[in-house]
Amino acid sequence: MDKIENCTVYYHDVKHPRLEFKTGKLVLILPKNFKNHEALIQKHQKWIQRKLKIIEEAVQEAERKEVSSRDDTQLKELVNNIIKKYKQELKVNLNKIFFRKMKTKWASYSRKNNLTVNKLLKYLPTNLIEYVLYHELAHYIEKKHNQKFWKIIKTRHPDYENKEKELLTYWFIIQNKLQ
Ligand SMILES: [Zn+2]
Repeated sequence: MDKIENCTVYYHDVKHPRLEFKTGKLVLILPKNFKNHEALIQKHQKWIQRKLKIIEEAVQEAERKEVSSRDDTQLKELVNNIIKKYKQELKVNLNKIFFRKMKTKWASYSRKNNLTVNKLLKYLPTNLIEYVLYHELAHYIEKKHNQKFWKIIKTRHPDYENKEKELLTYWFIIQNKLQ
């Protein structure tokens, strides 16, 4: 349990506790009067260790990767083109696209059907930008990362697990080298 002392805990109006890894960090989403973190972490120890191993590999891989050099305008143009394609394909009723620097995610999709894109995406290879955008637009159909969601993802990005891993690698590169 030594490596997960920096996990983030959120209390929400949820029935069951949930564990997630967000950009390399463990996040616990707990029902409001939930007390037993220790037991919860213990119970999911194997899963946590597996995730930590993937993260460790991503960090090592980060040493060997180069980042793309686009400027903000080129990123916007690329994003708009990709969105145009995927928006039709997934029949997404997208409202607006915002570009911002974000500290914890590549992009997010809001309930108001706005897409926020992290400007740091400009450092990623095009295929990963495509994946991130497809992933976010798929949240229009399914909010949660459940089976239904990954099924939608698989139709376009059957290798999404690799892409998630690569994204993590790039996350570490960008955090370490560019900021
Ligand atoms: Zn998602």
